[in-house]
Amino acid sequence: MFDKILIANRGEIALRVLRACQELGIPTVAVHSTADADAMHVRLADESVCIGPPPAKDSYLNIPALLAACEITGADAVHPGYGFLSENARFAEILADHNVHFIGPRPEHIRLMGDKIEAKRTAKSLGIPCVPGSDGGVTSDSDAIAIARGIGFPVLVKAAAGGGGRGMKVAHLEDELATALATARSEAKAAFGDDAVYLEKYLQRPRHIEVQVIGDGRGNAIHLGERDCSLQRRHQKVFEESPSPALNVAARHQIGEIVANAMRKLQYLGLGTVEFLYEDGQFFFIEMNTRIQVEHPVTEMITGLDLVIEQIRVAAGGDLPLAQKDVEFRGHSIECRVNAENPSTFLPSPGRIASYHPPGGLGVRVDSAVYQGYTIPPFYDSMVGKLIVHGKSRTECLMRLKRALDEFVVDGIDTTLPLFRKLVRTQDIIDGNYHIHWLERFLAEGGMEP
Ligand code: ADP
Repeated sequence: MFDKILIANRGEIALRVLRACQELGIPTVAVHSTADADAMHVRLADESVCIGPPPAKDSYLNIPALLAACEITGADAVHPGYGFLSENARFAEILADHNVHFIGPRPEHIRLMGDKIEAKRTAKSLGIPCVPGSDGGVTSDSDAIAIARGIGFPVLVKAAAGGGGRGMKVAHLEDELATALATARSEAKAAFGDDAVYLEKYLQRPRHIEVQVIGDGRGNAIHLGERDCSLQRRHQKVFEESPSPALNVAARHQIGEIVANAMRKLQYLGLGTVEFLYEDGQFFFIEMNTRIQVEHPVTEMITGLDLVIEQIRVAAGGDLPLAQKDVEFRGHSIECRVNAENPSTFLPSPGRIASYHPPGGLGVRVDSAVYQGYTIPPFYDSMVGKLIVHGKSRTECLMRLKRALDEFVVDGIDTTLPLFRKLVRTQDIIDGNYHIHWLERFLAEGGMEP
């Protein structure tokens, strides 16, 4: 096992990782920018190192500063959390060159899945069904038109290096394609420094269903069921649940086994999420994330496993926690991402939290790094925290979520709590009857107007 873990992140995920380390009895090092000197992860860690000024590129993305922090503190492993350097293969390699373990997959798998064109090619070769689209990147407009005619409009132009819903443009008709290509390319170039794009059939009413996996890097891998992340705004997840109201046991088992088998063949190491769109009973691969995800707690709630602890164990050469046949799914879990944003306009609302009272009680979990009097800095994402509830059934889970949302007090800034209070009282959500475009339509139709 590792002697000391440096957590190369901030906010709720830094705290989440710190808790796992403490339960494993491993000392922790927090890193922080000057804007985060008062942050909770800094207060609770055994040691902390300031790694630079507020902009992420000068602090949380500053590889030389992180290496120096490992050196100074004697940390022999780094947990990257999500975002920042968590899917940066070069960072993993540089750490290895300095005899520091990266808690995550091997660099070649990070690189493979980081290029979405290569990821799709690999998925196909491993027997995973993919969204119909171009076979590789598209370079010329004329090629793109020919491919789009083949798959049929509407089509989606996507960035090979994409992430966070950026660099994605729909073309409903042929004469919109040239503009969609140009816009997606320039957005991708600006966001990722890479303008490679590819085409996919644009699905009309799919659900986003993703499968959680963990591998030991020696050819053993298990799946931990799925998460339904279909409630999205601007292709970003807002509310997640497990199990998916759209799947039955047979479908869950079928897609889980396809994914676990693929990971066995890859000899995949660590946690991973294989994302699909699901429409008319069919799964279509879109991408794989090679890190812990924001929505991992819903899987923890129904499997009883601590995913971060297991992630650290396999990174240190340990075995998987269970055999596939021993994985059990109990009850239902839902997560709401509570952001510091106006619940109707979604404009960010950083600032000081004047009063804070999180909900509690059986089956209620709040993963957050804020506290009363804390000022949310304007430099990073706008998350206040995640409210996760668990119940024996989906109905019990929704009732519990409703009362937990009503208990939750965050004053002084705007939050998205009112949006969730509305959603849990909306029939389609109660019925589990929604798809990836549902939330945007609900908002456009004035769902949040008084
Ligand atoms: P990113 O890496 O930017 O998150 P993804 O490929 O994971 O991009 O897609 C994010 C979201 O965009 C999906 O959950 C879905 O809502 C939407 N999306 C992606 N591909 C398609 C598609 N072919 N048709 C319709 N929606 C899509």
